[in-house]
Amino acid sequence: MSRKNHFEISKHKDYLFVIKENISLVNNVYTNDPLNIYLLLGTDTALLLDTGCGLFPIRPIVNELIDKRDLLVLNSHFHWDHPLGNVEFEKVYIHENEIDVISKPYDVSYFKDSPNEIVKKYAEQNFLIPPAKEVVPLKDGDVFDLGEIIAEVIHCPGHSPGSICLLTSTGELFTGDVAYYGDQFLPKREEFPIVLSSLIKLIDICKKNKKVELYPSHRNYPCDISLLTDLYEGIQNIENLWDTKESFDFFQAWQIDDPSGKFRYYISRN
Ligand SMILES: [Zn+2]
Repeated sequence: MSRKNHFEISKHKDYLFVIKENISLVNNVYTNDPLNIYLLLGTDTALLLDTGCGLFPIRPIVNELIDKRDLLVLNSHFHWDHPLGNVEFEKVYIHENEIDVISKPYDVSYFKDSPNEIVKKYAEQNFLIPPAKEVVPLKDGDVFDLGEIIAEVIHCPGHSPGSICLLTSTGELFTGDVAYYGDQFLPKREEFPIVLSSLIKLIDICKKNKKVELYPSHRNYPCDISLLTDLYEGIQNIENLWDTKESFDFFQAWQIDDPSGKFRYYISRN
């Protein structure tokens, strides 16, 4: 497989490209295909949200799309499918809670036993993927002016401690892995209130601005507020489904299927 057919590029709006990558290629326990890497084009500056799995170079694709604009690179959070292309960029932003893990080589040795051919790409690097040259911390409320588009960082912990969403002045809400339809990776049950309060934060944004469209980092887009309310209600209902849980060792998690079919939950056992 080559770089050309690994990523699928789609122009969603004049100023918004989506670079899609199938993460199930690495290990089919991951079913949330595709990963959506978003590229926003302001008049002066472009913003890339995530750098993907690091299997093939993404920078040449980005360079072609941004033309002469400056480029900002942000990670929505630290999980392996989002930051492993960071090495191709001089400077990457991530929430301050996750700066340590992203500043050193990223250990993907849990893929050593994957039967999939593509894992050789990680083996060539001894399953340690190098970081960006410089990693810069983000915090809630940080704002980037791209020229005619302003993007604001919204800290939404839960899925991970430093998960962020991005709200634009043009009405897009990039939800990262905080909300999408598909397999959900949740912290242990005691931390559900953190997950739920992040969802409330996003629901409030949507209620204030009815025109906001949601762009999740996995699967279908755009979504609307019902993604957030479906997920909120689903997570609240896990308590009632607790007896149906099964062990899923690869993720060291409990697996519970939502009866709606919209979500499967992996709840951390650690
Ligand atoms: Zn993800």
